[in-house]
Amino acid sequence: MEKGKVYLVGAGPGDEKLLTLKGMECIQKADVIVYDRLVNKSILRYKKEGCELIYVGKKSSFHSVPQEDINKIIVRKALEGMVVVRLKGGDPYVFGRGGEEAEVLYDEGIEFEVVPGITSAIGGVCYAGIPVTHRDYSNSFHIITGHSKKNGKLNINWDAVSNIDGTLVFLMSIGNIEEVVDNLVSNGKSGDTKVGFISWASTPIQKKVVTTLDNAVEIVKNKEIEAPALFVVGDVCSLSDKLDFHSIKPLFGKKILITRDKNKNSELKRKIEAKGGMVIDVPTISINTNYKNKDLVPCILEGGYNAVAFTSHNSVRSFFDIIKNKKIDVRILSKLKFFSIGKSTSIELEKNGIYDYIQSDIATAKALSEKIGMYSKENSINLSIIYPCSNLAKDDFIRWIDEGGNLAVRQEVYTNEIEEGYRDLLVEYLIDGDVDYITFTSSSTVENTIKLIGKERLELLKNIKIISIGEITTKTIKNYGLEIFKQSKEPSIDSMIDCLL
Ligand code: SAH
Repeated sequence: MEKGKVYLVGAGPGDEKLLTLKGMECIQKADVIVYDRLVNKSILRYKKEGCELIYVGKKSSFHSVPQEDINKIIVRKALEGMVVVRLKGGDPYVFGRGGEEAEVLYDEGIEFEVVPGITSAIGGVCYAGIPVTHRDYSNSFHIITGHSKKNGKLNINWDAVSNIDGTLVFLMSIGNIEEVVDNLVSNGKSGDTKVGFISWASTPIQKKVVTTLDNAVEIVKNKEIEAPALFVVGDVCSLSDKLDFHSIKPLFGKKILITRDKNKNSELKRKIEAKGGMVIDVPTISINTNYKNKDLVPCILEGGYNAVAFTSHNSVRSFFDIIKNKKIDVRILSKLKFFSIGKSTSIELEKNGIYDYIQSDIATAKALSEKIGMYSKENSINLSIIYPCSNLAKDDFIRWIDEGGNLAVRQEVYTNEIEEGYRDLLVEYLIDGDVDYITFTSSSTVENTIKLIGKERLELLKNIKIISIGEITTKTIKNYGLEIFKQSKEPSIDSMIDCLL
């Protein structure tokens, strides 16, 4: 069997977007990803379908997988011919044991590449408002481990580091903080020197404490800061409030789980992140165009219909996908009136070149049916409407159209199915209690989330603030005996963001 290849990839310090393009490319093509505790797990959702995930970090009360075992896993998977991504926090070669792993791969004759990452020692410190080499304060910076290989004393030239006029960044030093500080002070570093601690740098739970070298040990003893943390020694730390751009955002510190499909969650995600919140992206539905639909085109061409009504952006996208896929000339639509349930559906229509449409005043299927009824009365026309929908659509809309004196016919243009690929990730997040809010944008996301975690574990959702997009979704949530925290005023992404703010 042909050997695979291993990529040692740096995932950056925490903020998902600090992953490099090359790192992203590797994740997208990996057959297996072996990842650590400090890696932002939401990066993993970029994996391709079927990619195996292996966690080798420490779980709260367990030990991490020993290095030799990690090496064995990587080697075995590569020998099986797989593309292996070994994903590490920060940069793989900055105290990440990437060097050791690369050596093992070399010895085994396995092809490998290293994708550098943004190290927490620079990028993490930056997110705390500390520029490591601001010219007014420092001419160099030094990255030092505060953790020795064997459990003995730290093997550092204290005289040199205490007397050099540069910024010192200690990693893994919280457990040994007394030894670090004592050595610096006794070798001549002034006790007045500004120092900064930053834990979970660049994430929404980043914490920063700035003090002086003399007070540093106290801070750790009082548990004001806990690992994983950076310890920065140098007067550049005095800039940290002025240059803080991260912790001042309105959703800073909030962890928000979103449950939409893989493709379309981007707007919600983007908007939460722009406000500083952390998005935990766990798709629970999978939307696919139903190319098996053979009736749509004949229905448009020969059915005698004069309108089409869309109750979701997915139905617009799939409707056009089907027509384009069959290479049918778009002018077959020229005699149809277009109706749209709301803004995001209308945006999708415009993307497909349809600007002349009628949009419902309120984005609900009921309101759209009323709008259609009114339109038909005002213009004295009978509408016979094609209703492109999903396999899950109920017949309420058709009934309401009928009650308004018109006619609608169902055309299933897409399937909405449960997405199983993120089950473990979802459960892991919920068990860790690592979620402040969970957002549901449809009943199917509620149903699927509960299917994925299992009804017997429903209590996992009880301490999380639930945000619902609208009435029907709220009803589904309440049917499971869960309380909602807030219901969006309008069924739109902006309105959901308002609930969070
Ligand atoms: N390769 C990593 C470092 C691995 S050693 C890098 O380049 O960043 C692990 C140590 O890194 C932790 O003990 C902590 O000191 C530091 N660290 C990594 N990510 C961090 C983060 N987001 N916030 C604070 N410290 C972090």
